[in-house]
Amino acid sequence: LNQGESSLVFEGVLFKAYGGFYYVKKGEEIWECSLRGKFRLGKGTPALVGDRVRVTPVRGNTGRIDEVLPRKTELFRPPVANIDQAVIVFAAKNPEPNLALLDRFLVLAESADVAPVVCLNKADLLTGHREHEWLKLYRRIGYPIVITSTKQDQGLEELRELLMGKTSVFAGPSGVGKSSLLNAVQPGLELKTGEISNKLKRGKHTTRHVELLPLLRGGFVVDSPGFSSLDLPQMERVELGYHFPEFEVFREECKFNGCLHHHEPQCAVKLAVEQGLIQQDRYQHYLTFLQEVIEQERRY
Ligand code: GDP
Ligand code: ZN
Repeated sequence: LNQGESSLVFEGVLFKAYGGFYYVKKGEEIWECSLRGKFRLGKGTPALVGDRVRVTPVRGNTGRIDEVLPRKTELFRPPVANIDQAVIVFAAKNPEPNLALLDRFLVLAESADVAPVVCLNKADLLTGHREHEWLKLYRRIGYPIVITSTKQDQGLEELRELLMGKTSVFAGPSGVGKSSLLNAVQPGLELKTGEISNKLKRGKHTTRHVELLPLLRGGFVVDSPGFSSLDLPQMERVELGYHFPEFEVFREECKFNGCLHHHEPQCAVKLAVEQGLIQQDRYQHYLTFLQEVIEQERRY
């Protein structure tokens, strides 16, 4: 590099990789980039959509990615880096919320270091404007909650504010209104729905294209639903309990270090469940997940 060239180097966000090109956003500008040679020699893709990258301009709005900056977070399915938050969407009705699945999404997000937001959509189907009891529980645990309706324009402004300046992924079962929400938040944006990406399921060795969709007020959303695999990630069995924030205050009182809150005597978490301080269903889901984590440990 000569002096003149290096002074033009800039940082941007790799938001799309397609047809051998890497598209980098720097403010409002879009740069079409190639990858520096050394990256292509390695196995797999060294640069992930979502990466912050350092670009050297070549000519016009084309450049070369010379450096991938350290990642904050990394998801594998979909493959995307630096996700800040996961908006986990459930419907008030149609389909009926499945809380075991919600808890699974929450653990998946927390274990990837992605901050979860619980979104209850189709609020127009709630009768009598009464909040679901279960929603109160999740609020009490401390999860940010947003209640929306794309049909009655409810909660959408709040959702826009939550998304502002962050990179978010929408997750949740199909039919809950993820793509409708995205379009309501910003007309013209469209999330590839679960159904579509299932239909397009390709061979194992083909890379799936993931793209970050830029939001008008800053920030991005991932164009396909997060956590396409619902298997819990590999983790130490003792780690699972850390992804249940309401266990926290009791955990310290457990007699055994590394207590799994299962068969151990003098377990403060189990006692809290008996006393109704921790919700029974959440604890049951914890036990189900614990079995899965232990079985996974055996497989590796
Ligand atoms: P996705 O599979 O999660 O992306 O869900 P879609 O966005 O495709 O929506 C599934 C269905 O729910 C569609 O028929 C939507 O019209 C409907 N829907 C989406 N949002 C709402 C809402 O807020 N209220 C009601 N009543 N229906 C909604
Ligand atoms: Zn315990």
